[in-house]
Amino acid sequence: MSFRFHVWRFATSVVVGAVATTGIATGAAASGLGGGGVMYVAKPKIMRVNCVRRCASHRRARSGSTLRIKGTDLGAIHMVTFHGSYGRADDIALRVRSGSSSRLNARVPMGAVGGPISVAVSRSLRSRRTRAIPILPAPPPSPNPELTPVPGPRDAGAPRLETGTSRTTAFFDARRAVVFSFRLSGRSARSVQVDLVSAADGSVVKTWSPPAVAPGAIQTIAWSGKLGGAAAHPGRYSFRVTARAPDGAVARSAQIQDYSRDSFDLYQYRFPIRGRHDYGGAGARFGAGRSGHSHQGQDVMARCGRPLVAARGGRVQYSGYHRAAGNYIVIDGSGTGTDYGYMHLAEPSPFRKGDRVYTGQRIGSVGRTGDATDCHLHFEMWTAPGWYEGGRPVDPLSSLEAWDGWS
Ligand SMILES: [Zn+2]
Repeated sequence: MSFRFHVWRFATSVVVGAVATTGIATGAAASGLGGGGVMYVAKPKIMRVNCVRRCASHRRARSGSTLRIKGTDLGAIHMVTFHGSYGRADDIALRVRSGSSSRLNARVPMGAVGGPISVAVSRSLRSRRTRAIPILPAPPPSPNPELTPVPGPRDAGAPRLETGTSRTTAFFDARRAVVFSFRLSGRSARSVQVDLVSAADGSVVKTWSPPAVAPGAIQTIAWSGKLGGAAAHPGRYSFRVTARAPDGAVARSAQIQDYSRDSFDLYQYRFPIRGRHDYGGAGARFGAGRSGHSHQGQDVMARCGRPLVAARGGRVQYSGYHRAAGNYIVIDGSGTGTDYGYMHLAEPSPFRKGDRVYTGQRIGSVGRTGDATDCHLHFEMWTAPGWYEGGRPVDPLSSLEAWDGWS
């Protein structure tokens, strides 16, 4: 058992009794330590981490695996943090409940990348980080666009289920991000429920209760990637259907932990050039010098004629011709407050001001109209309230590179 001083941030202004009500184990009395809220608390320690379930080969962990963490003073642990690689941007904290002071199981969240892990009792009482633990990415969802019989759990006498999901990669605000289909056969159902499950934490994020239909009819549910009016978090999602027979027998399309069937990865943006491209040299960068001003976007080099699509759907703010920008279009990205500008299009975009555009929808072709020598897309991002409306241009390169990584 190792103890250490644990000093609460608010210690000086709080009496000892009040601090103790937080339920954290206290060791020795605080007297003689300056009073206030100083007390001994066992610091959790990780000795060993092993992958025990759903592991990749050589017992390596991957998203969806279960890790067994062994150590000391793990009884009050609430949180496991996967620290990933550099910086905090890729940290993922996972709530856990520990039943034992010496061992603890934690599922590797979707999207966690290899790196150290730590466990925590509270924000400030945390174990040391382990050495980096390799984490393989989850395999992509297995496509099942056609209706096929499901292997899920089924009571005797329950309806039989077939399901299909239109795609394994979906984009927020695409016209129909993803379509789930299902059909009952055998007996009719008294009730049918379709849940959308987030693989990040296993929670049900949306539920549909379609009217129970006769066996043989195909039902479809389309989801745009919205939850409560806002863009859903990017990540892996799965459709789950539960059908109940009149006598209560239940059939499910999959186990709740199965993130391969009827699953898809949701992204919020799509890379705007459909084809080979590169980011050019220093002169292509945001902020590069131009005569009389600085470059307000990133140039992406690609052959003339390559399809251009909307990185994010939304409402067209401007579409027209300018002697420097050539044929251009600016789209107010739905739910972002950001305006996305696309310049030097080969032809005028067919879209006009006020038109609705969906993520991934074609808006034109790469060209070199206006002040351009090589074929390329000049891409701009402007903060709210928007393009030449009081917003300011921001460097879009890191966004482009991120979108490039998946689409
Ligand atoms: Zn440019």
